[in-house]
Amino acid sequence: MEYKDVVEMIRKEDIQFIRLQFSDISGNIKNVEIPSQELEKAFEKGIMFDGSSIEGFVRIEESDMYLKPDISTFAILPWTTNGSKSARFICDVYKPDGTPFDGDPRYRLKLIVEKARKMGFEAFAGPEIEFFVLPRDEKGFPQPTLLDFGSYFDLLPLDEVESLRSEVAVALKSMGIDVEASHHEVAPSQHEVDFRYGDLLKTADNTQTVKLVLKTIAIKHNLHVTFMPKPFFGINGSGMHTHLSLFKNGENAFYDQDSSDGLSKTLHHFVGGILKYAKEITAITNPIVNSYKRLVPGYEAPVNIAWSKANRSALIRIPAARKNSTRIEYRSPDPSCNAYLAFAVIVGAGLEGIEKKIEPPLPIEENIYAMSEEKRAEFKIDSLPGSLKEALEEMKNSELVKEILGDHIFKKFVELKRREWRDFSITVTDWEIRNYLRV
Ligand code: GLN
Ligand code: MG
Ligand code: MG
Ligand code: MG
Repeated sequence: MEYKDVVEMIRKEDIQFIRLQFSDISGNIKNVEIPSQELEKAFEKGIMFDGSSIEGFVRIEESDMYLKPDISTFAILPWTTNGSKSARFICDVYKPDGTPFDGDPRYRLKLIVEKARKMGFEAFAGPEIEFFVLPRDEKGFPQPTLLDFGSYFDLLPLDEVESLRSEVAVALKSMGIDVEASHHEVAPSQHEVDFRYGDLLKTADNTQTVKLVLKTIAIKHNLHVTFMPKPFFGINGSGMHTHLSLFKNGENAFYDQDSSDGLSKTLHHFVGGILKYAKEITAITNPIVNSYKRLVPGYEAPVNIAWSKANRSALIRIPAARKNSTRIEYRSPDPSCNAYLAFAVIVGAGLEGIEKKIEPPLPIEENIYAMSEEKRAEFKIDSLPGSLKEALEEMKNSELVKEILGDHIFKKFVELKRREWRDFSITVTDWEIRNYLRV
């Protein structure tokens, strides 16, 4: 869409306000609203904002930042505010001197897209977004209580959530996002939305939009959508499995019709890179204290650093589809991650594998959860970090992650997450009260 088409659309649809959106380091969507008449200025000069008030951005002394809308992200919001229609653009963040801001997560992902392009590839991603739908109390506060007792693919007894899911699919369609499947997940009150895969940048933008639309429409139904990875002990947590593929000259570079299993050398090296750096990128794909309560055996979430052509206990699974649908599924990410940064580190690690021709270990076809400790040692199967603290230790020494995130985000992220860990570790939890009060 060109600028004049956007202006025409805004006039025709009587759009009063424009939301300029971007994401902070934790992946929270931020926005500023401008009247439609200001749009030209936003495109020409950018709209100034105070970067020091955004998590992980800049210090007070250097706080003027500019937002410039990316025209390809124009979408009319599927709800009105006080009766008036708004549209949104996802924006890039610039410094006063007109250069891109190094701490903008979207910019870091663009650099990885560029790196892939230089190597002759276009990278595609498709996440499966899982979440819980929870009730609210009279004051509107979300309650940690299950709403239904459905399981995988169940039809719900609760009309409210079914209509929420279909309303979300219709709203996303109106914004140009095709939902390919949405269903009840294994755990009670747990659901999943899968939308059509696309290039990395578009898919990260879409992930943000899907999360925003889910949360916003849930409020209308007096419900709460949470992307917290493990809200309830003893049942499955929520993941954000991410499917990835590379194309070269319009052909799937992971497919090789002459190999016995249809998988190319490029796929092997990509997997080799991700497995090699899996520990170092985990703080980004699983960024909160609670993420590590999901990554435990027995709940369909990965623990062991291995790949497999079928087995869902491995960190990387290769779905059965071949030809242009050949892809890998990276199963550790959870929906609390910043999709821009997560896609950047996963694909960045895979590209490193291709560049350095890193051979992956042999794929493991048996259930790794059921393997004995000795057997895992024999196959040299390592585990993902067990806590945010361990993940940060791994990340802190990672040259690769530092290069992908840039010094700014790298430093801010480690600082932010160290504080989060410290806060958690000095908190007295319910578990301690239950188990130690009688001591
Ligand atoms: N909820 C599981 C996870 O945490 C995945 C379940 C599934 O999609 N098979 O990753
Ligand atoms: Mg799924
Ligand atoms: Mg699922
Ligand atoms: Mg999956």
